[in-house]
This record gives sequence, C-alpha cells and structure tokens, in this order.
Amino acid sequence: MRGDEDRAGDMAGKAATTVGGEGARDAVAIDGAGEERIVSARLVPEDYAVEGSLRPRTFEDYVGQDKVKEPLRIFIQAALGRGEALDHVLLYGPPGLGKTTLAHIIANELGTSIRVTSGPAIERPGDLAAILTNLEQGGVLFVDEIHRLGRPVEEVLYPAMEEYALDIIIGKGPSARSLRLNLPRFTLIGATTRAGLLTSPLRDRFGVVCRLEFYAPAELEQILRRSAKILGVTVDGGGVTEIARRARGTPRVANRLLKRLRDFAQVRAAGVITRPVAVEGLRLLEVDEMGLDRIDRRMLETIIQKYNGGPVGLDTLAAAISEEAQTIEDVFEPYLMQIGFLQRTPRGRVVTDSACQHLGMRPKEMPRLL
Ligand code: ADP
Repeated sequence: MRGDEDRAGDMAGKAATTVGGEGARDAVAIDGAGEERIVSARLVPEDYAVEGSLRPRTFEDYVGQDKVKEPLRIFIQAALGRGEALDHVLLYGPPGLGKTTLAHIIANELGTSIRVTSGPAIERPGDLAAILTNLEQGGVLFVDEIHRLGRPVEEVLYPAMEEYALDIIIGKGPSARSLRLNLPRFTLIGATTRAGLLTSPLRDRFGVVCRLEFYAPAELEQILRRSAKILGVTVDGGGVTEIARRARGTPRVANRLLKRLRDFAQVRAAGVITRPVAVEGLRLLEVDEMGLDRIDRRMLETIIQKYNGGPVGLDTLAAAISEEAQTIEDVFEPYLMQIGFLQRTPRGRVVTDSACQHLGMRPKEMPRLL
C-alpha cells in the first residue's frame, strides 16, 4: 500500500474497451502443490526482497506491452484532463507479466493513492465495505486474483463500481432496512490470470479490459539490463541474450534467473555473467535452451511415452505426473502453448512435432491433431 495525494472525479464512459486482444483463456497462478521451480512465473518468497526494487514506477521504464500501454496513457490523460476518475480497468494474463506493476504505474500517473488487496483476502462483504469506505476520492483499489472473490462480496462490488454506492441492510426480519452509503469515486483495477473465470456481471463493469502478452526476447533483454544496473550485477551482451532466451517470455522469471546467475558468477566466474557462464549456470539449474525445466520436460515426455503424444485429458495427465490439474492449466501450459509445444484440443492435450524434436523423442504413432 502506498499513497500520496488524491484527485476527485466523475466516472468516464461505460463502453468497454478491450485492449491488446481477445480470448482470455490463458492462465496461471493459484496455489497448487508441486516442486519448487526456478522458472515458475509465480511470486515465490525468494522474489520478495528484490521485486520491489526492480519494479518500474513509470510508463517510460515499463518495457513492452505497447498495445496496452499506449491506450492506457491516453485514457489516463483524458481522465485527468476532465478531472474525472479513470474507468475501472481489468488486467489479465499469465503471472509475472507486470499486472501489479502496471496498477502501481496507473495510480502513479493519476497522481493518486493505491490500496492493494486480493480476491481471497476479502472474505466477507463487510471486509470490502471497510476498504471501500476508506478509499480516497479518485483513489485506486487494486484487487489481485479478482476471479477468486466470493459471490456475496462481488455483489457489494456491483453498485460500488457502477454508482459509487454501498447498500447496507440494517437489522433483521421485518424491521430490516436498507441504507445507501455514498462512496468516494474510485478506480478499481482488477488483475486475473483467468479472465474466463470472471462472472459476466463483474467483467461487464470494467470499462477498460487489457490483455498482457508474453514478452519478446529483445524486451526481456532491456528489462534484464535495467535490473542488472539496479542490482549491481555485471552481465555482458551474450549473457543477457542467453538469459532472455530462456526466461519464458516473463520478466519475473528473467529477473530471478539473473539473481541466481549472479551467485553462480560470483562463486565460479569472477562475478561477470558472460554467455558461457550463463549457459553453465542454467545447465546446473536444469533450465534448457527453451526455458523448459524438469517438470515441463516430464510432462511432455509423459504425454509422448504413455499417451503416444496425446490427446490426453487434463485430469488423466495430472494423475500421471502427480500434479494438480489446475496447476498444469495455469502454470505449465500457457508458455508451452505459446512456444507451440503443446496444443489444447477438444479431446485433450497433444504434444506437437516441434516439442518431440526438442526433446529428441518420438511417439510410436504421430498424434492426431484435431
Ligand atoms: P504480475 O502482477 O503480472 O504477476 P508483476 O507486476 O508482479 O507481475 O511483475 C513481476 C516483476 O516483473 C516486477 O517486479 C518487475 O520487476 C518485473 N516486470 C514486470 N513487467 C515489467 C515491464 N513491463 N518492464 C520491466 N519490468 C517488469
């Protein structure tokens, strides 16, 4: 939670604007069991210490995502020009791509405060009411994992988003009365890895819908150079290229690999991350040239060996590799699909030819792509 001054305002137009593409069913995050993964896009305890220092604070430092960034800048400028609150914003996409960062930047650019919470943290409608009534005029409320809000909480949110009002029932039985409380005008920024899990009444109340995409290697290189400077890590061009290539299109993973390789370079290579140092360090971390780790490989190999390349149903696959179906869907698959190693078909998951080539394996018969 951070804050400075606030700004008053009216609500901008209600027409929903989808920024950065359609088709929200990508994914990631949620709890899930499983092994520790160096390439997990999820926030893990080792990230806490540096995540804050590496987080860009302005649009200038926020690399890539132009399809999202440019329209947002315009909406922010327009809202400021009119002296209104920015329309509610939904950010969706796999974890580690910069949703939380973007929410902070939006609040920063609006010159307002931000209150940070998450879907599972708001257990009862009263919890949400307490947060809403304490917001500043024109302030930003950031709700991470907004798809995990409970139904009764969500229902409190509807009038709050639409009319900046809170309906409270006082008393019980025949003497119960409803009381309407006015709220400060605020901007809700919701973040989710699973836009498909949002109820449509909630989704419809966001005026701006932004989909974040995986980053190109050149963008990750830019992020890595900035992070190296902040962390005081010496890394040369070859080192940066190698890390970017294996970072699964995800800034959080890129920054984590950089930190791990810093330790490796310090102990084994006079502190400088060159290409050979990065290659050797990543080999020890079992991250291959495509950014796949042991668990990705085990999953793909299982589909090839046990299910002849697929199709195999999600639950069957989950049982075969002892992972939760939801973890597979949210954490493993988005990147494997992005690089064309895995396909979701109506009959189940299918491993592609390029995945077989990468692993140097072949199913007994080629899978039937539907
Ligand atoms: P999410 O909320 O989508 O899980 P975060 O906003 O927490 O992701 O981003 C994780 C980390 O990745 C941030 O701390 C930041 O250092 C880095 N990061 C994310 N997006 C960018 C970006 N566009 N430019 C530079 N760094 C970024």
